[in-house]
Amino acid sequence: MSGIYIHVPFCSSFCIYCDFYSVTECAQRGLYIEALEKEIIRRKDEIKGVPRTIYIGGGTPSLLSSDQLETLVAILRKHFVLDNVEEFTMEVNPDDITPEYASEMFRLGINRVSMGVQSFDDKNLKWMNRRHTSAQAVEAFRVLRRAGFDNISMDLIFGYKRVGVSDEDAFASWVGDIKRMIELRPEHISAYQMSIEPGSILARMKDYQEPSQEYCSECYYKLLDLLEEGGYHHYEVSNFSLPGYHSRHNSSYWERIPYVGFGPAAHSFDGEGRCWNPEDLGEYIAKSATGWGGENMERLTDEEALEEKVMLGLRKISGVSLTEEEYRELRENAEHLAAKGLINLDSDLRHISVPREHLFISDSIIAQII
Ligand code: SF4
Repeated sequence: MSGIYIHVPFCSSFCIYCDFYSVTECAQRGLYIEALEKEIIRRKDEIKGVPRTIYIGGGTPSLLSSDQLETLVAILRKHFVLDNVEEFTMEVNPDDITPEYASEMFRLGINRVSMGVQSFDDKNLKWMNRRHTSAQAVEAFRVLRRAGFDNISMDLIFGYKRVGVSDEDAFASWVGDIKRMIELRPEHISAYQMSIEPGSILARMKDYQEPSQEYCSECYYKLLDLLEEGGYHHYEVSNFSLPGYHSRHNSSYWERIPYVGFGPAAHSFDGEGRCWNPEDLGEYIAKSATGWGGENMERLTDEEALEEKVMLGLRKISGVSLTEEEYRELRENAEHLAAKGLINLDSDLRHISVPREHLFISDSIIAQII
């Protein structure tokens, strides 16, 4: 089972917290699609078996016109057997969703939409430099529903405070975001803590101060409480779904199932190592037919593979099972953390997981195991 990831590197403007690779110059969308087909022709044999999931992410894939999207999907159908694809996701921004565009996406066989909403408070959206209002996000959700989508994921962001806003007001706004999300009832919700990524606009905003970890922790556990009460299943540190609607594609990342990523800055994993494409649209277009050499590639040592398995596996609420050999490697650290109550450890099954009350600090717990 393999997954396909397509990176569409265009955005109309940059959100302040984001450091994903994208460009705001959209004139090269046609050349990008031509280059994408060349890359697919060159690398399609890297897909082992038939693809089960496809994820068109970005950037902002919904900046492709209907015709360009149709061409992209036709390229996928031409070069891959898609009969067994059970999940075909496309990321969209609310301001791009019209009834015509949503119907076209549905007609093309896309069966899951991931929409960046981030907040239902217009002041927060403006501060983040999002291009839509809360009302536009709600309307886009309804338009997608009317077009036939019955598997919609929406993103929220927490753990930030605009300058001059008190903890109380910021927290009230966050609780409002969660409640509004539950009212809309998308099948899937992702919620990420805002962090200052080095290449982001936020990193250059001198007057911005991150809120305390106590505040962020309070936001996180409120999220867990309200979504669980609302019937959402918490299956990964930052991801929640109604029963049966977990993301198949993203779950394969945490399970270390191979996938192939196409497009500038896209990463791939073949089960033993990772490679990645250049973060430069011009270079990507120029070299997509020939490749960029072996420099963007790493083979994982056994030790690195185990670190990665634990790091990704412990993001899942269900945790991770280890082989006897792996358990021998980590046993001392795992038993030490289990004695302190920081992990759940079933030594007979060699299974570890992070308890709910420590999920907020799971990164630091993971760092202590490996
Ligand atoms: S968050 Fe999405 S829309 Fe905003 S800059 Fe990043 S990729 Fe583009």
